[in-house]
Amino acid sequence: MKNKDFNKYGHKLVDWMSNYFKEIENYPIKPNVKPGDIYKQFPSKAPLNKESFETIFNDFKKIILPGITHWQNPNFHAFFPANNSYPSVLAEMLIATLGAQCMMWDTSPSATELEERVVDWLKDELGLPSSWKGVINDTASIGTICSLLTAREIKSNFSINKSGYNTNKYTVYTSKEAHSSVEKAVKIIGLGSKNLKKITTNKDMSMNIESLESNIKQDLSTNSIPLAIISTFGTTGTVGLDSINKISLIAKKYSLWHHIDAAYAGSALLLNKYKKYVKNINLADSFVFNPHKWMLTNFDCSLYYAKNHEALVKSLEIYPEYLKSSEKKINNYKDWSIQLGRRFRALKLWFVIRSYGIKGIKKYLKKHIKYAKNLSIEIDKDKNFELTAPQNLNMINFRFYPKNKDKSNLNDINHKLIKKLNKTGKIYLSHTKIDDIVSIRMPIGSTYIKRKHIEKSWKLIKEISNSII
Ligand code: PLP
Repeated sequence: MKNKDFNKYGHKLVDWMSNYFKEIENYPIKPNVKPGDIYKQFPSKAPLNKESFETIFNDFKKIILPGITHWQNPNFHAFFPANNSYPSVLAEMLIATLGAQCMMWDTSPSATELEERVVDWLKDELGLPSSWKGVINDTASIGTICSLLTAREIKSNFSINKSGYNTNKYTVYTSKEAHSSVEKAVKIIGLGSKNLKKITTNKDMSMNIESLESNIKQDLSTNSIPLAIISTFGTTGTVGLDSINKISLIAKKYSLWHHIDAAYAGSALLLNKYKKYVKNINLADSFVFNPHKWMLTNFDCSLYYAKNHEALVKSLEIYPEYLKSSEKKINNYKDWSIQLGRRFRALKLWFVIRSYGIKGIKKYLKKHIKYAKNLSIEIDKDKNFELTAPQNLNMINFRFYPKNKDKSNLNDINHKLIKKLNKTGKIYLSHTKIDDIVSIRMPIGSTYIKRKHIEKSWKLIKEISNSII
């Protein structure tokens, strides 16, 4: 492709992109395709000869789009949102254009220095201790792996990195509602998933502190070595809020590492109202939060903050000859995480923070929390529905609970309801199980959501629920 064609098609694509956003509600959110439908449309061999941009772009529209789930549709309420926004998308175009590898200061000084600055901006706004230092990773899963790795290395006096394990008795504690990335991290760094204790939860879905403490005490009385507690601010199923402050005290009492997984709900800590949940954060060791979930920034963008960043770097740094840099006393972020090559993620975060301002971001979060609260009140009032968990932040958990009808197969009925709703293409919902109860999850967190979308979604939920009993 020549530069003039890049310019021509670039403009064409931006036209298409802005139309996509305008028309996004006309696409069925969840595609109506079966496994293999898309795959079979691709030739079995890679094209030998070059093809025109028009041909490729036409195939994008013809083959790819019909199999896309439209995550940015304002009626998408499944899983957790994966926000984007106009400034973030534009920044992604620049990131792709620069194509810079941002692994060390030398390989892109602006990327390193902007990363340091935006990470510090958000550290202050979230109310994290000023002495902590942060880095931008692709995902929270990576932050949690780095956190446990640092915990393990500090506990073993940095011997496991060098000599491997000679004991495998480290135990890690988290709640049974914690995200699966915790178990994955435990497996990846070789602690063994049987050494992950999943602590029971209270009615409000927070970790049961008494059970946590008694598990630690019990392990201390055997030859296990309690290593770390991973608490969650905003669990995936219900946005349950662990008692971070109390957990910090327990971690301190028994000299355990404390990592806070705030991947989803961390954004809410920008709001003063929620800062009390982490007032003891200076006692914790690390914190992870994803602007790519609920802070207007395209995937991927996950912030990992460490109290002891020197230990983080000591656990991960390697300097082969070909990567020896001219400067030593600067941040070489390749040593703050797992992968070597790094995207220029700070740029999109910078665009987002400046385009909205912290005030604008707070307004955005408050709007979603208010929408969720209002809808949960309506659901609670409806005699055919019930809330299945306390309404936290912008999440609603509920189920269809038809009045005067047989309640013996409510789980099946709710599965059926979700399936039928999703089939309309006008809404997308997902579920969790709370104990044995199938619960519909509805986080209100789309960048483009307005009150009318919530009203429309709730109307549709009621309509379809009527049709299945
Ligand atoms: N932690 C929590 C609480 C989550 O909800 C999720 C994903 O939804 C994760 C961690 C994993 O996030 P990531 O995809 O960034 O690894």
